[in-house]
Amino acid sequence: MSDSSFDVVIIGGGPGGYVAAIRAAQLGLKTACIEKRGSLGGTCLNVGCIPSKALLAASHHYHAASHDLGAFGIKVSKVEIDVAGMMGHKDKVVSDNTKGIEFLFKKNKVTYIIGAGAITAPGQIEVTAKDGAKSTVAAKHIVIATGSEVTPLPGVEIDEEVIISSTGALALPKTPKHIVVIGGGVIGLELGTVWGRLGAKVTVVEFLDRILPFNDGEVSKTMQRLLAKQGMEFKLGTKVTAITRKGKTATITVEPAAGGAAEKIEADCVLVAIGRRPFTEGLGLDKVGVAIDKRGFVTIDGHFRTNVPGIYAIGDVVGGAMLAHKAEEEGVALAEILAGQHGHVNYEAIPAVVYTWPEVASVGKTEEQLKAEGIAYKAGKFPFTANGRARSMNEVDGFVKILACATTDKVLGAHIVGPNAGDLIAEVVLAMEFGAASEDIARTCHAHPGLGEAVKEACLAVDGRPLHT
Ligand code: FAD
Ligand code: NAD
Repeated sequence: MSDSSFDVVIIGGGPGGYVAAIRAAQLGLKTACIEKRGSLGGTCLNVGCIPSKALLAASHHYHAASHDLGAFGIKVSKVEIDVAGMMGHKDKVVSDNTKGIEFLFKKNKVTYIIGAGAITAPGQIEVTAKDGAKSTVAAKHIVIATGSEVTPLPGVEIDEEVIISSTGALALPKTPKHIVVIGGGVIGLELGTVWGRLGAKVTVVEFLDRILPFNDGEVSKTMQRLLAKQGMEFKLGTKVTAITRKGKTATITVEPAAGGAAEKIEADCVLVAIGRRPFTEGLGLDKVGVAIDKRGFVTIDGHFRTNVPGIYAIGDVVGGAMLAHKAEEEGVALAEILAGQHGHVNYEAIPAVVYTWPEVASVGKTEEQLKAEGIAYKAGKFPFTANGRARSMNEVDGFVKILACATTDKVLGAHIVGPNAGDLIAEVVLAMEFGAASEDIARTCHAHPGLGEAVKEACLAVDGRPLHT
């Protein structure tokens, strides 16, 4: 095997690709990862999960210092935001994380190839470096992990200055006066929250009649109420018909989705956050005959195999939950399959978190899904107002809801709105992974005073016997 010949070559160095590369190398496969961005970690580390959480953390502290600390007897006389300083924090977090992946590649002996990969034939990849130089890499197995990109709004040009995508929203030089967010999904609410905390007026325009349409209905309603209390405005059931930029401002024309009178909104910033679509440009899929579906996702079977032998795909580019941890699980499972093991992903137990405050975390089925599928279930709910730890933190908004099978008591879903919901959900994910009943969680001793006691109490409530409500 020559130096440019590998057991596995992964195209794309995001959470799917880089994790697959590390796991494949751990299992003794000669592995390379091709990434064109110039830094590893993909969307998630560079312009997604990590920078957005760095800004959410910074803006959370600012907001707490400006509004919330007085309730604890802490007097803060003058709080100022330095947007450049906040961006410096974000940039450092991103750079430390992406360099960390380079270190992990070295440690695990993964070859990192910087350039754009294109599949020229099964087992053959052409790499184009930034300076245009071309080289060829041979591989027994090729993995497509090229991720996703922002879904554009037809007729609207994103300039990343006034009309921005999530990438622009992570790098604004100053707080806008009025930011109109198109799309009341995860990105819209997280990044709307960042700039809202810093003083921007935030208006969310959502096509459907609810925000967070993939979440449990009760969660969506609660979050809309809590975010409205924080100052976010919502225009639901509303479609955008035009956005025109004039200098440093934009006019957004909207009308009711069901039809009706148009309205114009003026803003100095418009964030387009209506979803993401698979990215396969320049990969040469048509030349080698790799099938994609009508939305552009690479088609795979239960073992991540495309229709072309020796070519596999994982992560955002194959669809399903477009989440970093889902991509990572697929990366590990595929690497194990390629090494002759039995890699597997349990898609029933993939958590999803919205990092607003309070946070929103969910796993498994929503009440709406259970009803639509005709599954009989019991629901147990417990509010954070009745949790001692939440009260001591002054964080009493939200609840834990557990959905369990009416006949077997097996946990089918969990929906949490509340402080640290994103961490609390892990317990229920584990329970679901083990096929646990709500009674199993209800009978598990939880440390006091802990936010996790709300999860236990919600499970007790499934059987009608909560202790503290
Ligand atoms: P990507 O991370 O998109 O990586 C694909 C990589 O492939 C890219 O680096 C790209 O440059 C490279 N590439 C593409 N084509 C080629 C080619 N031909 N040659 C070489 N390289 C190529 N998910 C969460 O779970 N939690 C979060 O908190 C979260 N927050 C997010 C916030 C934002 C603002 C955004 C936009 C996304 C967020 N996501 C979050 C989603 C998450 O980023 C994605 O689900 C995840 O990055 C998908 O991983 P991936 O490896 O499939 O693809
Ligand atoms: P999304 O699918 O979460 O939300 C898009 C929203 O836009 C939906 O509510 C949809 O109804 C609405 N919409 C669609 N077309 C519209 C239109 N023309 N006008 C008005 N509203 C419209 O997508 P997103 O927020 O862009 O995020 C993209 C992906 O990134 C998601 O799949 C998400 O999983 C991932 N992500 C995850 C996290 C996290 O895990 N915390 C954070 C950010 C992004």
